[in-house]
Amino acid sequence: MTPPGHPERPERAQVMARVAAGWRARGGEVVAPRAATRDQLTRVHDADHLRRMSDSNGRAVALDPDTYTSPESYDVALLAAGAAVDAVERVMGEPAGSALALVRPPGHHAERNRAMGFCLFNNVAVAAAHARTRGARRVAIVDYDVHHGNGTQHIFEADRDVLYISTHQYPYYPGTGAADEIGVGPGAGATVNLPLEVGAVDEDYRIVFDEVVTPVLRQFRPDLLLVSAGFDAHERDPLAGMRLTTPAFAAMTSELRAVAEDSCSGRLVLVTEGGYDLQALEASLEGVVTVLAAPRAAAMWPQARHASTRGRASALAARRALADYWRFD
Ligand SMILES: [Zn+2]
Repeated sequence: MTPPGHPERPERAQVMARVAAGWRARGGEVVAPRAATRDQLTRVHDADHLRRMSDSNGRAVALDPDTYTSPESYDVALLAAGAAVDAVERVMGEPAGSALALVRPPGHHAERNRAMGFCLFNNVAVAAAHARTRGARRVAIVDYDVHHGNGTQHIFEADRDVLYISTHQYPYYPGTGAADEIGVGPGAGATVNLPLEVGAVDEDYRIVFDEVVTPVLRQFRPDLLLVSAGFDAHERDPLAGMRLTTPAFAAMTSELRAVAEDSCSGRLVLVTEGGYDLQALEASLEGVVTVLAAPRAAAMWPQARHASTRGRASALAARRALADYWRFD
C-alpha cells in the first residue's frame, strides 16, 4: 500500500476491474494473469534488483522517495509483469491480434538495477524481451505516458532491434528524454524522444504522431508493437500539466493499431502505466478498448480547439536529432 494521498493508489485497480468487466459484458475475453518468472525478469533486470525486490516481500519498504511497497507489492508487481508477458504470448500466437494488460504498479521508470517512480519491475521491457524469445526480431515500444520512460530507454538504448519512442512533458520528472537522446552505440537512432512543453494539447500530439511517431514506426517495421499506455497526459490529471482530452487517447490507439496492422498482422499489446485521475483513467481506457474492439477506422483526432506550437517544436527537434537515421518528408 502506498501512503495516504499517494497517487498510485489501489482505487486505480478498481477502475481497471470495471473496464475489464465492461469488456467481458460485450463478449470480450478477460484473462487473469500469472506471476512473471525469474527467467522472464532477468532478461531486463539484474540479480541484485531481483533480490532487493524479493526481500521486500511481506514488508513495507521505501525504495526511493516516491516508491513504497506494502507486504503485497512484490506479488502484485510480479503479476503486473506477468500480465504483460501473457499479453505478448497471446498476440504472438495464431491468429495475431491485440491485447491490453491492465496493470498496476506502472513499470517504465524501473531501471535494470533499481525501482523508481512507483515502478518495481519494468513491465513493458519484460514484455519486449519476452517477445524476442517468441519470434519477434524487431519490437517497437511507443510510450505516451506523460513521463519519460527512463528505465525502458536505458534498458534498450544500445539495441537497434528495440525501438523506443516517447512523448512526454519536458522538462519534468524524471528529467531524461531530451530530443538528442537517440540511443547509444549500435542502438543510435532507435531511441526517439519527443519532449513537449507543459500545456500541450490534442493537436500537439496529433502533429508529433503525424510527423515523427508514425513515419518512424513504418520505416522500422516492427514484428510487434508495444505501447506504454499512460493516461496522465489527460487534462484532468492531478500530477502533470498536459491538456489531452479523452478522445485523444482513442486517436493515438487508432494510429498505432493501423501501423500494427500494416507492419505486423495487427500484433499490438498495450500495457498500462500512469493515469491518476480516476474518471479520466476510466473514460480513456474505455475509449482505447472501443478502438481495439471495432473494425479498423481512421484515427479521429478531436477538432483543434487551441493554437498549438509545442508539437511543431518537438517534432522539429526530434527530426533534426534523428535525420541521419530516418527519412522525414
Ligand atoms: Zn506517468
